Amino acid sequence: MVGGGLAGLRAIEAVRGTGWRGSLTLVGAEDHPPYDRPPLSKSFLAEGPLDQVTPFRSTVQLREELGTDVILGTRVEGVDTDRRSLQLSDGRRLAYDSLLVATGSNARKLDGQDSVSGVVGLRTDRDAAEVRRHLDQGARVVIVGAGFVGSEVASAALQRGLHVTIIDSEPVPLTRSVGRQVGEMCVDLHRAAGVELRTEVGVASFASRGGRLTGVVLTDGSELPADLAVVGIGATPATHWLTNSDVALEADGGIVCGDDLATSVPGIWAAGDVAHVPYEVFGGDLLRVEHWTNAAEQGAIAGRNAIRGEGDPEKISGIPYFWSNWYGHRLQFVGTSLRTEEVVIGPGGPGSVVLYRRGDRIVGALTIDRGGDIMKLRRRIVARGSWDEAVEFATARVEDGSGTKQTLPA
Ligand SMILES: Cc1cc2nc3c(=O)[nH]c(=O)nc-3n(C[C@H](O)[C@H](O)[C@H](O)COP(=O)(O)OP(=O)(O)OC[C@H]3O[C@@H](n4cnc5c(N)ncnc54)[C@H](O)[C@@H]3O)c2cc1C
Repeated sequence: MVGGGLAGLRAIEAVRGTGWRGSLTLVGAEDHPPYDRPPLSKSFLAEGPLDQVTPFRSTVQLREELGTDVILGTRVEGVDTDRRSLQLSDGRRLAYDSLLVATGSNARKLDGQDSVSGVVGLRTDRDAAEVRRHLDQGARVVIVGAGFVGSEVASAALQRGLHVTIIDSEPVPLTRSVGRQVGEMCVDLHRAAGVELRTEVGVASFASRGGRLTGVVLTDGSELPADLAVVGIGATPATHWLTNSDVALEADGGIVCGDDLATSVPGIWAAGDVAHVPYEVFGGDLLRVEHWTNAAEQGAIAGRNAIRGEGDPEKISGIPYFWSNWYGHRLQFVGTSLRTEEVVIGPGGPGSVVLYRRGDRIVGALTIDRGGDIMKLRRRIVARGSWDEAVEFATARVEDGSGTKQTLPA
């Protein structure tokens, strides 16, 4: 297993769950065994004593309970697919029979970001600790990118009473991932919470004194005073080490997989944020999904397939699902918004259901504060349910107020 994140961990657990007793090695670039990332932009940033993450399993548990050789703080730098061996950053070579790539993604960076202290991309526990330290010190906060992670950080900073500004280069943030109408609802959530959101503007440079951030200079010439800038402008698959191999990659660097998570090279499998996978339920669309449940499900399936001898490999059966919490609201999304028309059912903000239509079918759904509805909509999408029935269901739920209203403590 290359990559000590959620997908790698679930692969190990699944492999051992089958009773397989062969040798397993986990190579991870971070110093810690796998831990949970979603809290890093949520509870981890809240005021209070918590300041370190708890791994899902300790190194001792991985070794003793799951029989895994654990090599942490070490990167895989290359693969020789003919000899079936990996080049590690400490100079060692490691042979494999089956290889599972679960290296996740890296936060995208802006020019100049690394040379100024106080400018942080949020991906690891170290990044989160740095963000938290600045929040603890009462930083003036600028968030670059109104995506889900940036919005969650804005929410955490606001909850501490700090001054927060979000900037985004798009006219309506999140349009590409969830469509324009949901993007507009998200804009409203920020504004209703009292956060300033400036759109259609980017970062020209970071102003600093003595190497420390003092402000974010925008492309319109203005400057926002800041002690902390969190750069949340998306992530790219961590596959640089595969670029000279035979493993087929998509243009974004993600790995081309079949619906059994096999890559183009026999004996190599991929799972999680790195994998582009065809979803039969969406007409074979190849999707690369950066969501927690996706990494967990794919990790387990790819792990089992990697040790399977003869017989048909297992295929993915889940569909994309994610959640995000901001300003006391819970957003949940299931399915796809790719090539769809979106229709809002409900008040057009908290309490709404948004359905995504392709032809006469429902292929996606988003809810705000309607936790009781999302899994029911998921079942309709998986069952290739009709559009009209989905609209009828959602309208009834919204109009009679049913479904668990799920506003979180602000
Ligand atoms: C701050 C934050 C909040 C999030 N919130 C949500 C949420 O609310 N809901 C949701 O659905 N999803 C959320 N996500 C996304 C979710 O956490 C990811 O989709 C999931 O972690 C992906 O798991 P993975 O195992 O594919 O990759 P990762 O978790 O990224 O793990 C990959 C591991 O591989 C290591 N690695 C990389 N390259 C190498 C190499 N060459 N050699 C060895 N090791 C390497 C990395 O260091 C890392 O430890 C969030 C992500 C972040 C960063």
